[in-house]
Amino acid sequence: MIDSHCHLDSEKFDADREAAIDRALAAGVERMVVIGTGEGPPDLEAGIRLADRHQPIYATVGVHPHDASKATPETYTRLRELLKHPKVIALGEMGLDYHYDHSPREVQRDVFLQQMLIAGEARKPIVIHTREAWEDTIALLEVYWRPYGLGGIMHCFSGNADQAALCLDLGFHLSFGGIVTFPKAADVQEAARQASADRILIETDAPYLAPVPHRGKRNEPAFLVETVRKLAEIRGMTPDDAAQATTRNFERLCLRYTG
Ligand SMILES: [Zn+2]
Ligand SMILES: [Zn+2]
Repeated sequence: MIDSHCHLDSEKFDADREAAIDRALAAGVERMVVIGTGEGPPDLEAGIRLADRHQPIYATVGVHPHDASKATPETYTRLRELLKHPKVIALGEMGLDYHYDHSPREVQRDVFLQQMLIAGEARKPIVIHTREAWEDTIALLEVYWRPYGLGGIMHCFSGNADQAALCLDLGFHLSFGGIVTFPKAADVQEAARQASADRILIETDAPYLAPVPHRGKRNEPAFLVETVRKLAEIRGMTPDDAAQATTRNFERLCLRYTG
């Protein structure tokens, strides 16, 4: 299995980061993507620091919508450089978060757009975070991202089947996290049931959004087992088949440049 989105750099792992990685490997999570947004610019290397030290870890670089107001022209120059790192597989997470509004919305949109241009130029997929900003997110992707034909990952997909279809049409993969295991997440489960098998991914988003039966606790990559089990049940396949399909999808999308 591949955890396509986790924040192992979080201070919530300061006490047991190595042990958490070992537990993930023991649970069958062979690779983990650490999202490099960290505390925001000027530090853009939160993921790379871990990828450099741990063979099973890959990284992204990017500016989270929460941190959009911290981005400067130097941020973009540095992102272009860091995208050349051999273990950086995508740019993100980027997007729009109108729930928290930690950065002004017009700044969020601009920083999102700038990052799409950088990723397109570097021919790398993007990782999208969107919350209560569905229409603006899709509109920007439609204009600025679709023409590149590079696709990407809708991280922690929490929409319904219609929204899933829109994302698939834009060339995206849907990454399912802990939410798909929640009893009341019928819409997300239906989206997970309908999505084509070659476009599904799994993630923890650790330390956030732990799957049932760990809900409410700190999440960690080892808990990916619960998400894959639920995804398999929803789709009427075995957990092994779901693990294999999502691993293959990830490799096809993200590892074609790194080998
Ligand atoms: Zn996110
Ligand atoms: Zn995240």
